[in-house]
Amino acid sequence: NQGIGSWPARRARMTPDRVAITYAGRHHTYRELRDRVYRLASRLGVGHGVGHGVGHGVGRGDRVAFLGANQPALVETFFAAGLLGAVFVPLNTRLAVPELRFILEDAEAAVLVLGEERDGDGLPGRHLTAGGYEELIAAGSPEPIDEPVGHDDVCLIMYTSGTTGRPKGAMLTHGNLTWNTVNLLVDVPLAHDEVTLISAPMFHIAALAQTLIPTVLKGGRAILEPSFDVARTFDLIEAERVTVMFGVPSMFAFLAQSPRWARADLSSLRHLLCGGAPVPEPLIRAYQERGLTFLQGYGMTETSPGALFLAAEHSVAKAGSAGVPCFFSDVRLVAPDGSPAAPGEPGEVYVQGPNVMPGYWRRPEETAKVLSPDGWFRSGDVGVADEDGYVRISDRITDVIISGGENVYPAEVESALYEHPAVAECAVIGVPDGRWGEVGKALVVLRPGATAGADEVLKHLDGRLARYKIPKYLEFVAELPKNAAGKLLKAPLRKLYGG
Ligand code: ATP
Ligand code: MG
Repeated sequence: NQGIGSWPARRARMTPDRVAITYAGRHHTYRELRDRVYRLASRLGVGHGVGHGVGHGVGRGDRVAFLGANQPALVETFFAAGLLGAVFVPLNTRLAVPELRFILEDAEAAVLVLGEERDGDGLPGRHLTAGGYEELIAAGSPEPIDEPVGHDDVCLIMYTSGTTGRPKGAMLTHGNLTWNTVNLLVDVPLAHDEVTLISAPMFHIAALAQTLIPTVLKGGRAILEPSFDVARTFDLIEAERVTVMFGVPSMFAFLAQSPRWARADLSSLRHLLCGGAPVPEPLIRAYQERGLTFLQGYGMTETSPGALFLAAEHSVAKAGSAGVPCFFSDVRLVAPDGSPAAPGEPGEVYVQGPNVMPGYWRRPEETAKVLSPDGWFRSGDVGVADEDGYVRISDRITDVIISGGENVYPAEVESALYEHPAVAECAVIGVPDGRWGEVGKALVVLRPGATAGADEVLKHLDGRLARYKIPKYLEFVAELPKNAAGKLLKAPLRKLYGG
């Protein structure tokens, strides 16, 4: 079994007594993790050549969905499905019942495993509740299971974040996830004694593939948190001496804005992985002042996710960029006319490599739109490379504003707005304009206690940006819409403020 489902057993062979998972103050060693994964797999697979008696009959290629926050059952279901050659389908806990139903029906899940905090009301299919889950483990057999699983078998169907529309199920193989781990370990020297805090949801790719999977591979300890909480994060970093953490930029920003930031003991932190959205430069500086350097990355669900990586030693000199292609992956920037974009010129980011998905689940037309026959994946993102090949991710193609025939990249404008001391958060969208076609409109959330007028904030852009890039309008708002991954949602903003 070459699949990731075998990893807890491989680890337990070497380091059975090390702690694999910490959750709610309880520790589970690698031996326990391995045994629980075998037990679960033996019961999920009963009726399909695995075990005897009545069970769930999950076999190769069948989908096993999971609905719940980060918790041991999520990790165990992921590995157990992998052991059987079945496909793990983690569901976004913030989705409403009709959205969940859509995904469960789309994926045709054979079983839905429910986290301890969830009920399955209104959801189709066979359910395994928290109580039923422990019974199943207890009834299962800890005997090894050895199904033939290869790198080309699908391990995971992960629905994209849905920032630009309805989520699509990206199929990721065992090979995709293995190579992503290799890409990560080439540049992030994770040790055997890593203590990884996982508070970003594992139903999104980064927490699962950039933290849990590599931590298990190395035999480190993963602390699972059901959600991100600022005070709890500081408590855990200090008490557990956390060494690794992944966060989207907004999580790291919340920490830096907290009153506890200045006195928190952050001395245990070794690797701070940050990505999933543009990392504002003031945030990079705030962490540098505490002696902390982000390992920045860019990627997406469809690429497992790592595509670009900025190594620690270049993070100051190349601040603002997401780095160079990961070791075993290739990235190129393609201008609108299909030619390679020159350094300094924006182009669409294309990714190729062993971490690129084979396609979207049951969406051949969607797949054909983004994946060429030679394996290049079109990201829909705009990037600009410098002379050294370091790529700055600027925007989604759909967010670019065309004003008087000039392309205005909102990220560049937002970055300039962030330089104003009163600006806590901002977003720039295009609004229709009789004269220019489109003009920019900035939506700004002020820092608590700060006061500033719209004209004053816009004036601050004079001389920082070309005139055509400066938004025509600026409106103060109480908050900006974000999805569960902490990403700014521009579509609802355009709907609300774009008129
Ligand atoms: P959907 O595809 O459903 O609209 P999504 O693209 O947000 O949602 P993900 O796969 O979770 O879903 O996110 C990948 C996207 O996140 C990238 O395409 C890119 O737009 C953005 N992103 C990731 N990392 C970075 C980064 N370092 N800088 C800027 N943007 C980033
Ligand atoms: Mg996407």
